[in-house]
Amino acid sequence: MLSTNHRSEAFMQMIAELKAVLAKRQNIPDDYSIVFTSSATECWEIIAQSLTKKCSQHFHNGAFGEKWMKRAGALVDTVSVPFDLNAPLPVELVSADADVICVTQNETANGSCVSSERMQKLRSSTDQLIAVDATSSMGGLALDFTLADVWFASVQKCFGLPAGMGVMLLSPRAVKRAEELNDRLRYNSLLTLLENWNKNQAPYTPNVLDLYLLHRTQMSSKPIAEIEKKLEKRYAKWVDFLEDFPNLNILPQDPSLRSMTVLTIQSPDPETILRKGLEVEITMGKGYGAWKESTFRIANFPAIKRKEISKAQTFLRKFC
Ligand SMILES: *Cc1c(COP(=O)(O)O)cnc(C)c1O
Repeated sequence: MLSTNHRSEAFMQMIAELKAVLAKRQNIPDDYSIVFTSSATECWEIIAQSLTKKCSQHFHNGAFGEKWMKRAGALVDTVSVPFDLNAPLPVELVSADADVICVTQNETANGSCVSSERMQKLRSSTDQLIAVDATSSMGGLALDFTLADVWFASVQKCFGLPAGMGVMLLSPRAVKRAEELNDRLRYNSLLTLLENWNKNQAPYTPNVLDLYLLHRTQMSSKPIAEIEKKLEKRYAKWVDFLEDFPNLNILPQDPSLRSMTVLTIQSPDPETILRKGLEVEITMGKGYGAWKESTFRIANFPAIKRKEISKAQTFLRKFC
């Protein structure tokens, strides 16, 4: 497969199967289109260039949401809605001036998330397109894709694959918007991507290795509801475990706002914990953005093994 020409029959058949199995495992609505990109970052730009008429509105409480807004801001007008890490998404601030509403469902930088109930509220408070960055939750959580028009992720987080590919899901309304705007200026204009991937082809030589690995891993993967249950249990165990340490606090304080896939832990000395961890081959995430100095992060991604979690917990028990 790795030496297969991306215009060949074998490639096209693999892509057809990949889209079908991905839709089945992840519960993607039948009428949604699937395209593959190079990264989540590329998806940010595609939304600005090919789906935004004039202005996108950005709800953000962390570094990834902010970066998205900056990327979009280079191409279109943006409305910024910063909100507190310890508060739910302020859906009442949806702007009538914006034609795409942008939400980071799982803010990898600080371990916060937007609940399905909030997404529902947002959906019912606007007729505009809603675009969701689910980079660190898609493939791990049973997301309700009907609650937004554009969903995207890259494969190195919950899908557990080598970095270098993005997945983008588009509702019929999003496709209609792309047709209305008719952006064809870029190599990655959304209409070009759709025209190619709808025929199980790619507009440029894609990451064939990642496409193949996604195909293989989705084939042998459990339905997303089961994966979510597994992550839920592991998350609850992490919370139980961390409660024993008075000097470690999980962000955000309100458990209903917490990400299940990225635990962000406030600590007096994250640097030492990370360094000592590396000495025994435990890689945890550094803090990110505003939380760089005061937190470390633990991934609760599906590919992580039980053995690895208990090794990390034994380590933390010793050092915290
Ligand atoms: C990792 C991440 C990104 C960036 O992904 P790339 O594959 O590097 O483009 C964007 N948004 C969120 C929420 C992320 O966690």
